[in-house]
Amino acid sequence: MNKKEAVLAALSSVYHEDQDIVRLGYVKHLVVKGDAVSLALDLGGSAYDERHAYKQQAQTIVSGLDWVASVEIGLIPRSQSTHPQPEQGLDRVKTIVAVSSCKGGVGKSTVAVNLAFSLAKQGYSVGFFDADIYGPSLDTLIHLPPEPLGMINEQIIPKVFQGVKLMSFAYTQDPSEPEPAIMRGPMVSRLIQQLLMGTQWGELDYLILDLPPGTGDIHITLAQLIPIAAALIVTTPQALSLVDVIKGIHMFDSLNIPTVGVVENMSYFLCEGCTHRHYPFGQGAKDYLESQYGFSHTIQLPLDAVLTTACDHGVPLVLVDPDHSVSVAFQELAQGLTQRLAEQEDRTLPALNYADNQLTLTHQSHAHSIHLDALRQACQCALCTSDTPTGIQSDAVPVDIQPVGQYAIGVQWSDDHASLYPHTALLALTHA
Ligand code: ADP
Repeated sequence: MNKKEAVLAALSSVYHEDQDIVRLGYVKHLVVKGDAVSLALDLGGSAYDERHAYKQQAQTIVSGLDWVASVEIGLIPRSQSTHPQPEQGLDRVKTIVAVSSCKGGVGKSTVAVNLAFSLAKQGYSVGFFDADIYGPSLDTLIHLPPEPLGMINEQIIPKVFQGVKLMSFAYTQDPSEPEPAIMRGPMVSRLIQQLLMGTQWGELDYLILDLPPGTGDIHITLAQLIPIAAALIVTTPQALSLVDVIKGIHMFDSLNIPTVGVVENMSYFLCEGCTHRHYPFGQGAKDYLESQYGFSHTIQLPLDAVLTTACDHGVPLVLVDPDHSVSVAFQELAQGLTQRLAEQEDRTLPALNYADNQLTLTHQSHAHSIHLDALRQACQCALCTSDTPTGIQSDAVPVDIQPVGQYAIGVQWSDDHASLYPHTALLALTHA
């Protein structure tokens, strides 16, 4: 029995109802490299808790094989059946994740590419679409032979590198031709649409979209056209970038796309021979996003020449040096993302009711009440957190209470304070 067969034999002791998960075809993308095993479980429409219980069980069983040193198990997402029907080339793409930044040069494409290959290493089938038409960087980040694109059934065949399907506007350009003329917004949106829909992606667990920087037409067009399940925002830690991140979060909110994580890139550096982290751009953006928006999935990446070198060599760092601490951080980012997406599928928003000076949130049949005074005191708005806070008027009452995105509740008060309360902060208040 070879190692793969040994893993499958072990997994056949895990049962779903009255059949084992191997026979049911739930085990996908099984890869064995030496003593490292990676696989994904496709548990269809099961609830989040159930799928995680199976994952735990499988993890314990495979880790129990005496030659196995590491096991990575991914959960294949449920298809996004509640979204509008995607068009042809994306028919069999289960989850689309947009990676975005408000400014260029913050490392968005570097993060997006390493995220895609981290997901592929965890056993998922992955595609990558470079939607940054003004500055496509995929052919720099991944060096491929300059072969023309092939066509099949009037669809473009994506390029493939280490199992990940790739498409970029740069692949459609002839290097001997002059640069294309400057294109206006609607033309660009049309071109992206044609390229994205006209690519034969086949069956994918994840399609990563590397969006152009900013919050413009292209984002809105794409969000209306395809079911983007979640957004990941890349930033650097300066205060100005933070303002941009917030702009990005609000844009995705308005498009009804949950922002599931923020990557603070070039956050710190470690100088040679010293383990102390230096923060040249200051600290605090991560904490601010966590307290204001309830983002627990904020990852900090160092400023590290290994990333630049890997980019220059045209192979993602997670492939060149998978054990490097930055590669490990990318793997954590990918794992956190799949987990957030799985949680999101099972998520229902709390129902709100305000009466008798109490805000009541009802979630999964449990009612949590918060008194008006506690809610006021927890206000983190700009007026309350400035160096000279204006204070809260004791007779202020809420004039408007609304859900904000999928993560918070906004309250407009009669004394002009506008508070944003992440669900996590509200639940903490109910337990206080
Ligand atoms: P964007 O997509 O935001 O325009 P890129 O991903 O193209 O940015 O990155 C811009 C440059 O910064 C690239 O040369 C890349 O190698 C480098 N870079 C990105 N992140 C890091 C990092 N954490 N440490 C060092 N260099 C980085």
